Amino acid sequence: MTVSIDPGSGFCGGVIRAIGKAEEFLTEHPRLYSLGEMVHNEAELSRLAAKGLVSVGREDLDALPSGETLLIRAHGEPPSTYSAAGHLNIIDCTCPVVLKIQKSIREACERMAGKGTIVIFGKIGHPEVLGLVGQVRPDAEEPETAADGVLVVENLPQLLDAIVSGRISAPVEVFSQTTKSPVEYAGICAALQERFPGTVVHNTICSQVADRHTRLAAFARSHDVIVFVAGRQSSNGKVLFDLCSGENPRSHFVGDASELEAEWFSGAESVGVCGATSTPKWLLENVAEAIKKLQ
Ligand code: SF4
Repeated sequence: MTVSIDPGSGFCGGVIRAIGKAEEFLTEHPRLYSLGEMVHNEAELSRLAAKGLVSVGREDLDALPSGETLLIRAHGEPPSTYSAAGHLNIIDCTCPVVLKIQKSIREACERMAGKGTIVIFGKIGHPEVLGLVGQVRPDAEEPETAADGVLVVENLPQLLDAIVSGRISAPVEVFSQTTKSPVEYAGICAALQERFPGTVVHNTICSQVADRHTRLAAFARSHDVIVFVAGRQSSNGKVLFDLCSGENPRSHFVGDASELEAEWFSGAESVGVCGATSTPKWLLENVAEAIKKLQ
């Protein structure tokens, strides 16, 4: 049985940059606070915690002593976070791709001047989505309402429901969270353009993610068994695992090597190991080695 690791899996550029900045800081300081989990992967978080990275929530910011350093992760944050962290030093690791989308949303809001709806295709409550919504709405915690012209939808049925119930009005501009499925986003955009001709579509799925979808589908088809490695909280992990399962029914999701089951590999000649944009390469290698030992 051969075991191969998908060369396209592993951290995306935004996550590599954020982790690099954190590790660089921690070589000279004992502690760095991260607002939320820096990467949705428990194993990588444990590795960074051992170096001094401490994850905190927004509710903890007030209590952090002045002068401590807070890392803003690649997902980005709404403007209100920067105000709440005014007493702290900030290492801003918001991915440049996300910064560009935040700016586009502010510009769309100005263009629309209080009319119409900005639709965001993303996971309700996801930090990146809260950061996007927060560009035009201070109370980003309640993105599923469209009271002030911003609406978040997680899937096509939610969008169609919003259209039928009159919660979307023209002009419409649509954006996607960077890690969503390009195929699903195309469906969302088509439905909006059919109902609201003239809908402005912003191509905001990260190119690193979009490329990965095409390559990963081929990778999943070309192996007897797929082991997909990601944190259970990873939104991108869920999307990519669903993609693998659709291409190869013998796909299995694990957080780490301890979750492997020998019977998954019965009769298999080739196993492919792959993961999300938040899965570190070292973890993929650990899992691949553990699979080889099961033979
Ligand atoms: S998936 Fe793309 S946009 Fe998101 S953090 Fe990674 S590089 Fe940036």
